[in-house]
Amino acid sequence: MSRIRQSGTAPEKTVRRAVTTLGLRYTVNNKDLPGSPDLANRSRRWAIFVHGCYWHRHAGCHKATTPRTNTEFWCNKFEHNVARDDAARAQLQRQGYRVLTFWQCELDTRAKVNGRLARLATQPRR
Ligand SMILES: [Zn+2]
Repeated sequence: MSRIRQSGTAPEKTVRRAVTTLGLRYTVNNKDLPGSPDLANRSRRWAIFVHGCYWHRHAGCHKATTPRTNTEFWCNKFEHNVARDDAARAQLQRQGYRVLTFWQCELDTRAKVNGRLARLATQPRR
């Protein structure tokens, strides 16, 4: 059930470590679920996305800059990313999943990460 790949970005690894510490089991990039969540647990119905602020356009974040050249191209690409994220989240929620999104810039506050994850740990089994 639990399958931990060696690959993954630093922010993903931070979240995985925190989830593992809480004793939660998960699969990584489950392709059977909408958007292939970075972490997910089907039986307990939660999914976690770990988003890079730049590619996924963290609103109001200083990391979400827009390139000065080919601006239209990049804006279209970013919009596509955000629309895909929204669609995946909505689809999962329709299937009864609790969906958490962690932004790259939020991950330096370990207490905050653990606080949000703890709510998954206490959620009753369906
Ligand atoms: Zn950010």
